[in-house]
Amino acid sequence: MKTPRLILILADQLSTANPALALADRKRDVILLAEVAEEATYVRHNRHKIVLLFSAMRHFAKDLEDQGFSVQYVPFDQGVSSLKDACRKTLDATDCGEVIICEPGEYRLSSAMKSWSPELGVPVAVLEDSRFLASHAQFETWASGRKQLRMEYFYRDMRRQYGVLLDGGEPCGGKWNYDSDNRVGWRGQCDIPPRPDVEPDSITQEVIALVNDRFPDNPGDLSQFRLAVTAADAKKQFEWFCDHALANFGTYQDALVEESPWVFHSLISMYLNCGLLEPLAVCRQVEEAWRQERCSLSAAEGFIRQVLGWREYVRGIYWLLMPEYATRNTFDARRPLPSFFWTGDTDLRCLEKAITQSLDLGYAHHIQRLMVIGNFALLAGLDVDAVCAWYLAVYVDAYEWVELPNTAGMALHADNGAMASKPYAASGKYIQKQGNHCKSCRFNPSKTTGEGACPFNSLYWHFVDRHADYLGKNARMGLILANWRKRDPVEQDSIKAWAESVLEAL
Ligand SMILES: Cc1cc2nc3c(=O)[nH]c(=O)nc-3n(C[C@H](O)[C@H](O)[C@H](O)COP(=O)(O)OP(=O)(O)OC[C@H]3O[C@@H](n4cnc5c(N)ncnc54)[C@H](O)[C@@H]3O)c2cc1C
Repeated sequence: MKTPRLILILADQLSTANPALALADRKRDVILLAEVAEEATYVRHNRHKIVLLFSAMRHFAKDLEDQGFSVQYVPFDQGVSSLKDACRKTLDATDCGEVIICEPGEYRLSSAMKSWSPELGVPVAVLEDSRFLASHAQFETWASGRKQLRMEYFYRDMRRQYGVLLDGGEPCGGKWNYDSDNRVGWRGQCDIPPRPDVEPDSITQEVIALVNDRFPDNPGDLSQFRLAVTAADAKKQFEWFCDHALANFGTYQDALVEESPWVFHSLISMYLNCGLLEPLAVCRQVEEAWRQERCSLSAAEGFIRQVLGWREYVRGIYWLLMPEYATRNTFDARRPLPSFFWTGDTDLRCLEKAITQSLDLGYAHHIQRLMVIGNFALLAGLDVDAVCAWYLAVYVDAYEWVELPNTAGMALHADNGAMASKPYAASGKYIQKQGNHCKSCRFNPSKTTGEGACPFNSLYWHFVDRHADYLGKNARMGLILANWRKRDPVEQDSIKAWAESVLEAL
């Protein structure tokens, strides 16, 4: 009989497509899942994220047992400190002579695993994560020799590779990208359907009690926990999205909405990222919905671009440029994070809404993350590491492979433009155009200085002024810089002075 192997499954790898699990022989091998302190505490994770992962792990382990696998499950209360220790204990207690793991999604853990084999005294095989649609080698080949790594060209190649939204090799409808149809601001044009909740079952309730008890200082209001914790329930949630929200997803993708935290977004990143949903399957399902005329092409394309394009692209950027990527800070931004990032206690209505729901629910949609919170952090020159640590902590879908490029690269432009062709900087007028927060805000988006002026306005020009040399090298910023430079110097000084007072008040 061959020596049994220990198959370690990480909390964000709960999928039958996990390549380590696919190798498992249920008569011989041992599957290990472990809730360990090191992973649960390396940032102050949102409690929704810990509940989602622990409960999903417990359900997944039970499923594997029902299928006849031999499963070792280490619950959090056993006090095992790290994944390596969990492996060591299991190796000691079994005849396993090798560890097999699907590669982790974070550089931190991936580097640590390099020393596991000598420390554990057995071979450790780390397999490439085939759940993603672009392999590391493929992304490196795509990137090599290119001056600029723009998502759009990568996305077109992915569409061609997987035959998604193609008509005889050409993009359906004749255009690759319908982004320009997806920027409508919110003026209460239609009803937003209420989201179906998943009632926590007894396993989830037990985990909620554990997390409330053991993580009292983490963000997250667990009385509002309603996430799916099994692949079957995640699939139902996604089907609800296809039936009730997809048709409006494209149009209001960039909308900022006072009355709803999720608008018409899909709320599936947390499931995709831990393995409960598969990226290609959701793209195919959305394409099918379009072919059945249940949504417009711009809605389907808008969704597919996010999953097949952006999601794979940011992961490619992360693994291509780490670990140096995490040290970049183009604008030398070092201002400490204001305390309202941890309380939501600010008079700026858009920020208050976005931060409060991020803390309470672990969710904000893309434009809240990018153009409200991220934009504020960019304009105010908030410390890049502190902002990235905040994003990694508060969101239920946060893992460094996807959080870091989005935060440091897309939102803060800290990566010297590796991802975005220009900084996503905007004044209060953008926020007013995209939604209805300004109506309930004490600040006026039409004012730049003086009592009641929207802070985004003066901060915007302060940012343009202090980085004029850098921005001046970017053709796409030419018009804005020219606009700033032609202003009366007295007016410029008063805007800068007002912005300084806003920054001091932080
Ligand atoms: C500063 C910042 C930080 C972010 N941090 C994370 C993070 O930690 N984890 C995470 O999964 N996403 C992150 N995103 C991307 C995006 O905001 C979320 O994926 C999205 O808001 C999740 O909500 P949804 O499932 O309703 O998405 P939808 O708007 O319905 O989009 C559908 C899917 O597309 C994918 N997607 C969309 N945009 C992106 C993107 N830019 N990068 C990667 N995938 C994308 C997601 O899987 C998402 O579920 C971040 C974006 C910004 C600007």
